[in-house]
Amino acid sequence: MSINTTSISIPTTDYLPVDNPTASFWQEKPHQFHDLRTTLELPPSSDVVIIGAGYAGIATAYHLAKAEKNLRITVLEARGVCSGATGRNGGHLRPDMYGHIPTYMERAGVEAGLEIAQFEVAHLDAIKKVIEKEKIDCDFTLTRTVDVWINEAAAKRATETYNLMASRNLEYMDDVFFSRSEDAENISGIKGAKACATYTAGTISPYKFILGLTEILNSDPLVNIQTYTPVTKVSPDPKGGFIISTHRGTTHAKQVVYANNAYVAGLLPEYNKAIVPCKGTCSHITVPVGKRAPQLTNSYIIREEDSTLSYLIPRIDGSIVVGGANSKYKPFLDQWYNNVDDSNLIEMGKDHFDTYMQRFFHGWEDSGARVDKIWSGVMGYSFDSNPHIGALPKKDGSEKWWWQRIVPEKDNQFVLAGFNGHGMPVIWLAAKGISKMITEGVDFEETKMPRLFKTTRERIENSLKGPEGGDILV
Ligand SMILES: Cc1cc2nc3c(=O)[nH]c(=O)nc-3n(C[C@H](O)[C@H](O)[C@H](O)COP(=O)(O)OP(=O)(O)OC[C@H]3O[C@@H](n4cnc5c(N)ncnc54)[C@H](O)[C@@H]3O)c2cc1C
Repeated sequence: MSINTTSISIPTTDYLPVDNPTASFWQEKPHQFHDLRTTLELPPSSDVVIIGAGYAGIATAYHLAKAEKNLRITVLEARGVCSGATGRNGGHLRPDMYGHIPTYMERAGVEAGLEIAQFEVAHLDAIKKVIEKEKIDCDFTLTRTVDVWINEAAAKRATETYNLMASRNLEYMDDVFFSRSEDAENISGIKGAKACATYTAGTISPYKFILGLTEILNSDPLVNIQTYTPVTKVSPDPKGGFIISTHRGTTHAKQVVYANNAYVAGLLPEYNKAIVPCKGTCSHITVPVGKRAPQLTNSYIIREEDSTLSYLIPRIDGSIVVGGANSKYKPFLDQWYNNVDDSNLIEMGKDHFDTYMQRFFHGWEDSGARVDKIWSGVMGYSFDSNPHIGALPKKDGSEKWWWQRIVPEKDNQFVLAGFNGHGMPVIWLAAKGISKMITEGVDFEETKMPRLFKTTRERIENSLKGPEGGDILV
């Protein structure tokens, strides 16, 4: 979907995370390492500097540390650990089985789309394994997610998509149960459901997960984490490597990983249309003391009669985390598009989750359920809806890209960013792939990451030439 934005200027490239974000439910009880500074001063040098301590940055540090190559790793974070999109998201670990996958198959062939679906499905197993291995207390559940269509025309289209995917004999589709009958309402528990699909997914506290990994990294003498240290510039060092500038001074890196997601163009201006910061809304719903509501065990994606889409996870204490409703604010671009200000809410649609449970869920009518917290977060929306992962594309000598005056040396720099509203089932294994590229010196293709995720000159150039908003699938 391209966005008609004649009024939009090219995104600025000097942005940093604001220092007073809205308070997210996940961070109500800050972890002891939220404000971690391993040492009082920045280390003078490291083998790898990672910019950003969200899911992508911390997962990359974890995989690098576990590779046992004796690399000195420094993570520089503008705010506290897990204060960006990861600490503000919906906690929904839901692989895409057939939502956007048919689009990717149409664009790039069945194999390319299949790679993405399989990569995302693999996250369920990989994340469950690391949580169990490292004994991370992060409210993880492996459950069924329920996709619901209330709109009749959308339910019809979903049926066609399901039938198309089922006809391809894809093994992972065996896990999908689709119902287009009058039973859809009873199977899903959603009022007026015309169709529903269920399949395996996870729910998690993203904040506890990332802080659990941070705790493990903190016990590794080769890892140094520095919060409240925004990186303002990365410059090549004439003697080799890179000088990383922060307001606390400089540090030297042999290799750099850009894991600053929505803000990546602040340091790499060539990405300023490939990855655009876009705000989203999420909320926490509770049932007042003395009232009762059915305990949900499934997670949900609900598409309403007017096609407004929200995602929802139940918490073990009976409360609910629900976010989305993008279509309520989509036309009001100034409120969310190319916007890094998560210190305030998106005004349009912010009331959508009041009485949400009563409106959509059977049995919740008298629950008194109400929003007790609502917050915003900034995602990196990519031009073609796929993340940018891998080594920064190199200068080939034939072209003079204007940004190469800023960082002419692209070797030994890596990016993993632009995860849209869908990083949970993508980032863990993407970070593992980046770690493999660094520790084993392998190319992107050898990591087995989906080919459409590779960051390339072509993708960057397409974004610079293309319509504002590109093919963002929102
Ligand atoms: C409201 C909302 C709901 C969402 N719900 C879901 C969901 O349910 N399921 C799902 O799969 N995905 C969801 N997402 C998307 C998901 O959260 C992201 O894809 C994922 O968290 C991205 O992780 P990240 O580490 O790349 O980015 P982030 O978590 O944003 O981490 C990037 C970090 O870089 C830091 N940084 C930026 N610039 C600099 C700099 N110059 N110097 C130092 N540090 C810097 C930031 O402060 C930040 O901490 C949601 C996102 C939002 C905002």
